[in-house]
Amino acid sequence: MSNHQSGNTSNKSVNKKAVLVLFHNDLRIEDNETLVKAATLAESNQGSLMLIYADFLADSIESKDSSQAYHFNEMGAARQQFLSESLSDLDQSLQRLGNRLLCLLPSYSSKSHFSRDKVEPASSPFTQLCKLIEQQQVTDICVSHTADYNQNKGYAALQGKYPQIIWHGQSTHTLFADLPTQDLPKSFTQFRKKVEASHNLLNTYRDVAFSPTPKSLPPMPDALIDRSNYLFKARAFDEQAQQVFNFKGGETNAMFHLTTYFDSAAPRTYKTTRNALDEWTHSTKFSPWLANGCLSINTLLNRLRHYEREVIANESTYWIWFELLWREYFYWYAIEHGRNLFLFKGIGHQSPDTRFDVQRLQQWQDGTTPYPIVNACMNQLKQTGYMSNRGRQIVASCFIHELGLDWRYGATYFEQHLIDYDVASNWGNWQYLAGVGADPRGCRQFNLSKQTEQHDPNGEFIDKWQGRRAS
Ligand code: FAD
Repeated sequence: MSNHQSGNTSNKSVNKKAVLVLFHNDLRIEDNETLVKAATLAESNQGSLMLIYADFLADSIESKDSSQAYHFNEMGAARQQFLSESLSDLDQSLQRLGNRLLCLLPSYSSKSHFSRDKVEPASSPFTQLCKLIEQQQVTDICVSHTADYNQNKGYAALQGKYPQIIWHGQSTHTLFADLPTQDLPKSFTQFRKKVEASHNLLNTYRDVAFSPTPKSLPPMPDALIDRSNYLFKARAFDEQAQQVFNFKGGETNAMFHLTTYFDSAAPRTYKTTRNALDEWTHSTKFSPWLANGCLSINTLLNRLRHYEREVIANESTYWIWFELLWREYFYWYAIEHGRNLFLFKGIGHQSPDTRFDVQRLQQWQDGTTPYPIVNACMNQLKQTGYMSNRGRQIVASCFIHELGLDWRYGATYFEQHLIDYDVASNWGNWQYLAGVGADPRGCRQFNLSKQTEQHDPNGEFIDKWQGRRAS
């Protein structure tokens, strides 16, 4: 299904609906229009409701789209953990409403739920999903619109295979149901100016509307209740990542963080602190919950508005909005450019003068480059699944300029490890820094010595993350 269309709306009348939701980056029950739509459809004639999380990425890697020639075998530990916690939390919420989350993952027997190694076609999530659709005679599928090219390819494959099924697409990941400007401007600044001129989203006294949370859900089909091997089992991880940062996946934790952040004084100084490399309160830290859809952007915006009305509205609170608009921009950028998001030459016409080099790539990943600040950031990423925005800019610039590497390998490594991995923000930012994306100024190189002086003058960050361990 193409984004922001309602798919096939055949008039075929079906007595009992069997409605299926495919969760993706909308792992929440609050302000989830997709869940509301599915519940309403199933309720309308006492039908059944299947709530599925299917890991399509494993299938897309098997089919190897030429636009994504680089892949990893296993999601990083911190990202797995965050996702696993998010799914577990969603399952608990759905149980309270009378249903359950069914997870179709490549293999339950392997060491990891999210292993990308040797997915047997018979056990691939796509094959499992097709079996389920056929056995349960699914009549309707509800999904949230996504900028994720591979996920959309999975949806298109299902539509091709089952043309009789009616699809319902809802917007849950962005502030705007459709592109908020007539055409997508070439730069973020133009986009921001147009959006701010035409949508009074921040400085208004009314909250943005959002979907009600269902009070209960129709049941899953009887035949599925005993299929316990579908049910989500949270995986035990070592607690290392949590000891460093307070990131814990799931909607419950997202709401807790939202309250804690806006109950603190941090928002009033955000603009002056946001470039720090390490401190929990120096930037908002909403990105992992936003990326996985544990937190709705509408809920966050409303909370920001309340803060502006009730506590203070200043340059810093405006800047939180400003950064959230970057997220919006890249969402629509990814929709607009489709598979070009993954091309070496990006959306431009010229390929950068960089190449693949296994040794330099390894140094960068292992934090053993000649640049302590880069090493420290890379160690932080591997251990926690998070890196500050400034850190990301520094390591990406080093990857492209000092190490002369093909930017797509860097983007893929980020995809593997970031707990806030978001296809649009990640690939869009990498393109931008590689000079093949939305940056009107072309390629940006960060001076690593200056960055170190400015952001880690006493070397505390470098020491904490063992950045001096060069090869
Ligand atoms: P804050 O500074 O508090 O910003 C508030 C929110 O605004 C963030 O949570 C995020 O949703 C949004 N935001 C801020 N900066 C950006 C930006 N440059 N682009 C898009 N949205 C932004 N962000 C992701 O969410 N997922 C990614 O996969 C991702 N990959 C990146 C790769 C590179 C190379 C770079 C330079 C940036 C990337 N970012 C990505 C953007 C940004 O680094 C993170 O959103 C931010 O560091 C998250 O921390 P925070 O929530 O404390 O951000």
